Amino acid sequence: MSASASLAGLTVEAARRALAAKFKASNIDSPDLDARLLIGAALGLDHTGLAVQSDRKMTEDEAGVIASFAQRRLMHEPVARILGHKEFWGLDLRLSDATLVPRPDTETIVAAALEIIGNDFAKDSKLRIADIGTGSGAILLALLSELPAATGIGTDISGEALHTAEINAQQLGLANRASFIQCDYASALDGPFDLIVSNPPYIRSADIPVLDRDVRDHDPHLALDGGPDGLDAYRAITPQAAALLAFGGVLIFEVGHDQSDQVSALMEGAGLTLPHPPKADLGGIYRAVMGRKAAI
Ligand code: GLN
Repeated sequence: MSASASLAGLTVEAARRALAAKFKASNIDSPDLDARLLIGAALGLDHTGLAVQSDRKMTEDEAGVIASFAQRRLMHEPVARILGHKEFWGLDLRLSDATLVPRPDTETIVAAALEIIGNDFAKDSKLRIADIGTGSGAILLALLSELPAATGIGTDISGEALHTAEINAQQLGLANRASFIQCDYASALDGPFDLIVSNPPYIRSADIPVLDRDVRDHDPHLALDGGPDGLDAYRAITPQAAALLAFGGVLIFEVGHDQSDQVSALMEGAGLTLPHPPKADLGGIYRAVMGRKAAI
């Protein structure tokens, strides 16, 4: 019997429980939540809608959609990828195969940037921002959503990622202040920038095979693989960024759990000063490393 045949005729609530049990048996991290999100999306219902319709029997078509979502989740495809979008900094972002699923940890970069800007600049100043390896546009668009007079440019090596970022900029009403350019890191950019942000690939190549399946099998390796010691991208970007920053401007990197010291040293090596200690994410891991191009 196919999965959809086994769900058809069940009530919404019974299907939700059946899915959650299957996910649990397959060691999916949050089986109940995932079952609810996928069934809600398949039926076009939010949390309340699901509760209101819990006794309704599902049609064949609905059961078919839910079964195909479930099949994908059982292959450890993240819910955000199945749904094709993910919330980041309160913004709804579209995803594609070429973009990472934006992580809550990455909101630390946005928070660090806004703190520095709050200290150094007036909220309505015409900041120029660059996001190197922008992916879905997450960091850049979050910043532009908070800074009404800022403009920004995102780069990515992947044209498909940039297409996704452009759609996100349009859907969020930020396209008039965001532009995107395909290049290797910052190689095609002209400065000066007041702020350069980047969440580059930083996983050691040898660690990729042992990553969580949700990440290893579904996030683009181009956005993960940081070379033998995980630091290749930082070595490439830091000198480029140091040259592109305005005097007083700041570079902010997302870093892996044990990389803040090495990335701080790379920044100092490129002539940047360290105006603030690294900022920790909600798990207490140093996640944002900041360097300033001192005024001369
Ligand atoms: N934070 C991601 C992960 O650990 C990695 C992202 C990156 O390499 N920039 O899954």
